[in-house]
Amino acid sequence: MTELQGKVAIVTGGSKGIGAAITRELASQGVKVAVNYNSSKESAEAIVNEIRENGGSAIAVQADVSYADQAKHLVEETKAAFGQLDILVNNAGITRDRSFKKLGEEDWKKVIDVNLHSVYNTTSAALGDLVEAEAGRIINISSIIGQAGGFGQTNYAAAKAGMVGFTKSLALELAKTNVTVNAICPGFIETEMVMAIPEEVRANIVAKIPKRRFGQVNEIARGVVYLVKDGAYITGQQLNINGGLYM
Ligand code: NAD
Repeated sequence: MTELQGKVAIVTGGSKGIGAAITRELASQGVKVAVNYNSSKESAEAIVNEIRENGGSAIAVQADVSYADQAKHLVEETKAAFGQLDILVNNAGITRDRSFKKLGEEDWKKVIDVNLHSVYNTTSAALGDLVEAEAGRIINISSIIGQAGGFGQTNYAAAKAGMVGFTKSLALELAKTNVTVNAICPGFIETEMVMAIPEEVRANIVAKIPKRRFGQVNEIARGVVYLVKDGAYITGQQLNINGGLYM
């Protein structure tokens, strides 16, 4: 039994990459997890089965969180299955990298919608329940790119910086409640997306990271558990898990 036993979490985009690691880490703490996915049904069902086989509770919920009605459906399904909601992890994200000159309005809007507008949608739908919870937690997975910028990433950087501003403002508004709101800003994490970068380019990136390696998905997931478990006096913050790349 851990102190998180029986708590209920939603992890958006929780079936792959960093989201899957967060799902697994929360489940290992006894948290019941709603694993949100948009199109990756198979990986969502696989992780749900894995958690159940290990004695935990999880459900897979399809929802494109860039749409308000689908985000609302996600929260409703979670409550119907588990009766409460304590933790919201806004992890769903995409990139559509283009230099600004080539960036069309569609790629601008899509990245803002999936990374940032989704945070408004899920938070709006979940807030009433999080405020009712004994210790509500909102954790927004932002990025080092929102802090330092990234070539060809004006859309992504704007969305991720937007998440940080949102986090600070909502933390202020909710400070009088039991809900804390924080962001995690990962650096380069060893996911499929990062490992798809050509080896030579990857070597150049690693050379610039003070810790001389990429981060692991578990290192982000453990940051989430830390904020959930021990974060009662931590709100409005950015937890930088980046090997020292941005200080
Ligand atoms: P990923 O592509 O493996 O995971 C993203 C998840 O979001 C996927 O499961 C995807 O299906 C889901 N998703 C995408 N659009 C969605 C939508 N409209 N509705 C619901 N789910 C949707 O990528 P990842 O590397 O695991 O990234 C997870 C988060 O961490 C993202 O927000 C990303 O921006 C952020 N991040 C990643 C890194 C890195 O190095 N990998 C660094 C900094 C920040």
